[in-house]
Amino acid sequence: MSKIDLNAVDFETMIIHAGQGPDSAYGALATPIYQTSTFCFDTVEEGAAKFAKQIPGYHPVYSRSGNPTTRAFELKCAAMEGGEDAVATASGMGAVGSVLLAFLKTGDHIIFDNSVYGGTNYVATTNLPDLGIEVSRVDTSDLEALKAAIKPNTKIIYFETPNNPMIKVTDVAAVKAVAGPDIRVVVDGTFAPPPIQYVLKLGADIVLHSITKYINGHGDALGGVVVGTAADMNQIRMNCMTKINGCPPAPFNSYLVLRGMKTLALRVERHCQNAMAIAKYLETNPYVKAVYYPGLESSPSHELACKQMENGLFGGILSFELKDDVKGLSSFEAGKKLLNNLTIPAIAVSLGDPDTLIEHPASMTHAGVSPADRLAAGITDGLVRLSVGLESAKDLINDFEQAFAKI
Ligand SMILES: *Cc1c(COP(=O)(O)O)cnc(C)c1O
Repeated sequence: MSKIDLNAVDFETMIIHAGQGPDSAYGALATPIYQTSTFCFDTVEEGAAKFAKQIPGYHPVYSRSGNPTTRAFELKCAAMEGGEDAVATASGMGAVGSVLLAFLKTGDHIIFDNSVYGGTNYVATTNLPDLGIEVSRVDTSDLEALKAAIKPNTKIIYFETPNNPMIKVTDVAAVKAVAGPDIRVVVDGTFAPPPIQYVLKLGADIVLHSITKYINGHGDALGGVVVGTAADMNQIRMNCMTKINGCPPAPFNSYLVLRGMKTLALRVERHCQNAMAIAKYLETNPYVKAVYYPGLESSPSHELACKQMENGLFGGILSFELKDDVKGLSSFEAGKKLLNNLTIPAIAVSLGDPDTLIEHPASMTHAGVSPADRLAAGITDGLVRLSVGLESAKDLINDFEQAFAKI
């Protein structure tokens, strides 16, 4: 393990060293990939003691419940968020499902923000009701509506900040004040990982991420993580992640995430700088009706974002809406042409990759959401979502210029 006092150093130093240090077997600096399903004991007695957790230290017995490569990834994520412990999962949805199934049973009630990730939306509209769990949907940034939705059996308030795909910011501290001590506030922080925001510090009980996005950051592995108190993480791991979900990450993916996280601070800063430059450019573009990015002074989320998001960083994702009439075309038709004309951004869902990714929510990520629910969440047919990559901002802006000109 590292000799550094991780509480005394800056985020850039901490994120490189937390959870990792020279390996105890040979001193390897990079954490080895423990590509094994099981672990051996010298004697029956030693095995019994390790299963009963009677020996101090980390002693994995089977890779579904613990693996040293994955444990390093969990410890790095706990340090990243300033939480007591973390549970890693095979995907972001594995994290979402493991949190919800760990703390909800038939007859309980959960409040979801009215616009969440498509997979989570399916859980809210279909999976949880099928299990007899009551679901309410509100705009969680509307504190009066949120207060009115709370019932005696409410167990969780769940939202994303910033959210998908309108990049709306929700006040984490204000939601926790409304929730009180008995309702868990669960935040999906995928769109803005540290060092942009620290939602546990703001009052959330649990933060989860799709590691697939910024935290691994290279677009080559799926993963998820949940961070919170040691008691909550134990409950998620023992009752749910290793049982009904059975979704630990593969050791190789944990290794990729550890490697990706070494550059998290650098990457996130560049993603945010590029997104700000492109948001400002799009705001001046004559074919664009609105740009949704909390870093813009025109954003209704800007004031709250300045309070809640740190270091002048506002994330790498923005959405924009084309004008209803672009050179005689509808916003839907113009949007399709624009995406097809671009040469640098890949037309793809997902986000947080080094490559810029562009997508059309109405026909891609949110095609499964009913048109009425889409409109209620502000998702029009002309809305385009951009995950700004690590390319040169100048090259990206030039590409948008030629793509608009060619419509
Ligand atoms: C991608 C994503 C998820 C799901 O993560 P996977 O790794 O794809 O399972 C959950 N929440 C948000 C906000 C996401 O962007």
